[in-house]
Amino acid sequence: MTGPDVVGYWLSTVQVTPRPPLPGSAEADVVIAGAGFTGLWTAYYLALADPSRRIVVLDAHVAGFGASGRNGGWCSALFPASPAAIARRHGVERAIALVAALQETVDEVGRVAAAEAIDCDYVKGGTVVLARTPVQEARGRAQVDEESEFGTGLYWLSAAEVRALCNATRVRGGTYSPHCAAIHPGKLVRGLAQAVERLGVTIYEQTPALNLRPGTVETAAGTVRAPVVVRATEGYTSALPGHGRLLAPLYSLMVATEPLPESFWAHAGLARRETFSDLRRMIIYGQRTADDRLAFGGRGAPYHFRSRVDPAFDRDARVHDELASTLVDLFPALGPRPPITHRWGGPLGVPRDWTASVGFDRRNGLAWGGGYVGDGVATSNLAGRTLADLIVGQDSRLTRLPWVGHRWPRWEPEPLRWLAINAGLRATELADAREDRTGKPFRPTALLGRFIGE
Ligand SMILES: Cc1cc2nc3c(=O)[nH]c(=O)nc-3n(C[C@H](O)[C@H](O)[C@H](O)COP(=O)(O)OP(=O)(O)OC[C@H]3O[C@@H](n4cnc5c(N)ncnc54)[C@H](O)[C@@H]3O)c2cc1C
Repeated sequence: MTGPDVVGYWLSTVQVTPRPPLPGSAEADVVIAGAGFTGLWTAYYLALADPSRRIVVLDAHVAGFGASGRNGGWCSALFPASPAAIARRHGVERAIALVAALQETVDEVGRVAAAEAIDCDYVKGGTVVLARTPVQEARGRAQVDEESEFGTGLYWLSAAEVRALCNATRVRGGTYSPHCAAIHPGKLVRGLAQAVERLGVTIYEQTPALNLRPGTVETAAGTVRAPVVVRATEGYTSALPGHGRLLAPLYSLMVATEPLPESFWAHAGLARRETFSDLRRMIIYGQRTADDRLAFGGRGAPYHFRSRVDPAFDRDARVHDELASTLVDLFPALGPRPPITHRWGGPLGVPRDWTASVGFDRRNGLAWGGGYVGDGVATSNLAGRTLADLIVGQDSRLTRLPWVGHRWPRWEPEPLRWLAINAGLRATELADAREDRTGKPFRPTALLGRFIGE
């Protein structure tokens, strides 16, 4: 396709023919608002658990329109709160259980993709995170130490070992985790929508939910009544009545290059399509795509007043230019003007305590999954499996994980939210520049750190 709703490189490479909207009021057993990974994985596992259940999924645009069709394609075992932070709240054992469940989830995504014949370029090459300054090296080594207790599988690599995987500039060492697959998210999300339909689920696209209440989802075309209502709207949640302070939409932006020649890859590496990043504070992330492009993204775009989401925010020339120059800094063989063919971005759902959550309130029939920040590609699959167990009423290993039923504090009212998040983002940028300049660690103040997940 090609059409007004398609954003970014991934969806531009797959056929996206919008499904019809909801024709009028309807009844179901479960209605899900949002056809990204969270909504679709929930529908998938629920339909498998009970094929007779009537499941309806509504999307305001098309399946995969949101972050699920726009992301960096890291299908990783990462979680926005560190295992140490989870352990402080729930104990070491439960933190370890969550880590293990996330690691299994990376394989589960690959298993279902293969079983459903979804060719999403899944290759499990792990993640290499480069340390390119002494401060980054100290940070990476400390992270390896901190995580050793939790079985994350993160280990330290020498400079030579890192360069053998990812031959970027200024490498002093780095961390490696085997628990990540590079995927083509557009192919996964659109293929998953088809798999869900084959199981009997009905997807209506071009159908915004106007209000979610116990037992009903209202749309302009009519009301869908169902005893179970699932909110799977992630970065778009703030537009729903009563949800304005639940998840702050922070933007992550990406660029993709044209396919790069074998001579480039012979030098740069990433032979097993390892996903890559470095240990600066402002998150960056990249992958070598199956068609030999670099797809590369990062945070740093401003937060918009009152948690507004707007297609205009998908593009920010300053951030896109910064991403292009970071790529050149990492891989100078790209030349001073890297061959960027695509620029895009999208909103992430950020909870006030930066801890993803999944849950089902049996008293009112409302379920939710999200708040993944930038780690939702695999985590949404864990959310879907967990929601299916919760809704079916099946007590399981998954329903006892520590993120289940977690409730977020609300974000501050405006203008405090806007001031604090943007000051936090700016402080992160300044901290990176200062660490580069002085060679000493610099932490944004503790107060601002709390707004940006420090
Ligand atoms: C640029 C970028 C890069 C990222 N990179 C990574 C990565 O490499 N690895 C990783 O793990 N995570 C990454 N993430 C995060 C990850 O993509 C998300 O956490 C994940 O896709 C969330 O899935 P979701 O289904 O919960 O939300 P979404 O995919 O955002 O889906 C929400 C859906 O709800 C629909 N919707 C919104 N409002 C309504 C309404 N009122 N009624 C009906 N439907 C509605 C939207 O159209 C959308 O399709 C990235 C995100 C972005 C934006």
